[in-house]
Amino acid sequence: MLLILKTPLDEERLARLRRRLAEAGFDSEIIDSGGFSLLLIQGDTAGLDTDMLLASGVVADIKRLDAPYKLASRQYHPADTVVKAGGVSIGGGGLCLIAGPCTVENEQQLITIASSVKAGGAGLLRGGAFKPRTSPYSFQGLGEEGLKLLVHAKEITGLPVVSEIMDSSQLPLFSDIDIIQVGARNMQNFSLLKALGRQEKPVLLKRGPGATYEELLLSAEYLLSWGNANVILCERGVRSLGRRNSLDIAAIPLLRALTHLPVLADPSHGAGSSDLVFPLAAAAVAAGADGLLVEVHNAPETALCDGQQAVTPEVFKEAAAKWQAIHDLVSER
Ligand code: PEP
Ligand code: MN
Repeated sequence: MLLILKTPLDEERLARLRRRLAEAGFDSEIIDSGGFSLLLIQGDTAGLDTDMLLASGVVADIKRLDAPYKLASRQYHPADTVVKAGGVSIGGGGLCLIAGPCTVENEQQLITIASSVKAGGAGLLRGGAFKPRTSPYSFQGLGEEGLKLLVHAKEITGLPVVSEIMDSSQLPLFSDIDIIQVGARNMQNFSLLKALGRQEKPVLLKRGPGATYEELLLSAEYLLSWGNANVILCERGVRSLGRRNSLDIAAIPLLRALTHLPVLADPSHGAGSSDLVFPLAAAAVAAGADGLLVEVHNAPETALCDGQQAVTPEVFKEAAAKWQAIHDLVSER
C-alpha cells in the first residue's frame, strides 16, 4: 500500500503513524519523489484500516497495490472457480441457465414452469419462497411451503433449485435447496453473509442496485473468509436515469477480470420488462457472463410477482438457443 503524504510534512505525526504501523507488524519506507513524500507499507495490508491512516493527519491519499478482497481477487487465484450445485457446474467456460418464476405460487404453476424451462435448456430452477417486496401489502411468498414445492419440483424434473434467503434464522429450511440466493437488498447484510459463510452450500450473491464492484466483491469476501468457497456473483441492474433498473453490462467483463468467481447476469430484474430480457441477456452473454438468471412464467399476466418482466416458456426456449449460440461464438475467441 502506498500513502501519498501531505505537504508540508508533519514529521512528528509521521513518526507516530510509523510507530503504530510497526506495532501492528508492518514495515514502512519513506520514498522522496521530487518534492512529494510517499510512504510504502509492506506486507498484507488487506486488514489495514484506511480510516485510521487518514485520521493520522499526514496522509493525503491512499493507493492500494493489492485488492482489499484477497480471497475473491483474481490476483491471487488466476483460474476460474467452478461452483458445483446438484451436479451442475457454474463458471469455468460453460453457460449456465437458471430459470423459473419470480415466486413459487402453487404446485401446478411450479411443475408446469419447471418442466418447460428444463425442456428449454435450463440447468437449474429458480423460485422465490421468501420474497423481499418493496410494499408490505404485496404478496410475500409462500415461505417454507414454497421451499417444499421447489424440492418437489426438483424430484420430478431433476433440476437443482435456487431460492432466496432473507434471514439466517431461515437457514435450516434450506437444507434441500441447492443454491441459496442473497438478494440485492441483502448484499450488505453482514450477519447473514457470515452465517452463509459458515456453511458450504453455494451462495448466489446479487449486486445491490447502488453497490460498487468493490463493495460487491467485499461482500463476497465475507462469504469466502468465513469459509464458504462456493460463491457465485450476479449483476441485476443498477439505479439509472430510466424508470427501472439498468443492467450494467460493463460489470460483466470488469468483474470477470477482477475475480475468479462465476459472474451471472439477471436480465429480468435488470430491466423490469419482458421485451428487454432477450437483448440484455444476449449482451451479457456476449460480454462473457457465465450464466443467466431469468424469470419465466407460464401466465405472466396473472403472476403474483414480477409478471411484467417474466417471459413465457416458449420465448425462453427460443431465446436460450440463441444465447447458447452467442456464448459458443464468443468463447471461440
Ligand atoms: C429475485 O431474484 O426474485 C429478486 C428479488 O431479485 P433482486 O434481489 O435482484 O431484486
Ligand atoms: Mn422477481
